[in-house]
Amino acid sequence: MNIVMFGAPGAGKGTHADILAAKYNLAHISTGELLRKEVAAKTPLGKELEFIMDCGELVKDEVVIELVNNYIHQETRGIIFDGFPRTVLQAEKLDDMLEDAGRKLDCVISIEVPAEELVRRMKERAQISHRNDDNEVTLRYRLKEYEEKTLPVLEYYRFLGNLVSVDAGGSIEETRQRIDDVVAARM
Ligand code: AMP
Repeated sequence: MNIVMFGAPGAGKGTHADILAAKYNLAHISTGELLRKEVAAKTPLGKELEFIMDCGELVKDEVVIELVNNYIHQETRGIIFDGFPRTVLQAEKLDDMLEDAGRKLDCVISIEVPAEELVRRMKERAQISHRNDDNEVTLRYRLKEYEEKTLPVLEYYRFLGNLVSVDAGGSIEETRQRIDDVVAARM
């Protein structure tokens, strides 16, 4: 099974991708994590990315697509994509990359959280995450990037017919159950 976990920053994509990956023995790729590793390792790419990510801007499509492409070809298990795709171009490329690897996308789970609750969760996470981009100014910019560049991806998947929306405004357990029902029905 290959699944895209879609949602705004702070919606809980990472948490629920982890839970699903453990339950169904799937690989979990977080492009944000892969990019942060590049930054931490101070690779030439990491040095280029640091400022962009600290500002809350999206990294260039080519960079992220290449990271994901390498990952898809090395991983044999089903994959949960967390934080990718974030632009329509990335979504189109994901279809091509999966097809090249003899895979297909089974579903896109959109985890939906009301805007005020998102901001509350992001501020809460900022207290513990120690991420340079988890501060109030950057959070606002990340939400703007999301609305302008990432929300159109939802329409792309709605059009293709593989989008499932899940209400994620409640507790982690309630959302976990809803997501599990979606996945179990497709197994
Ligand atoms: P995340 O951990 O998913 O919140 O991502 C943290 C940051 O990494 C984002 O604000 C972007 O700067 C960058 N990033 C992660 N995934 C992508 C992506 N698919 N496309 C572009 N930039 C990304």
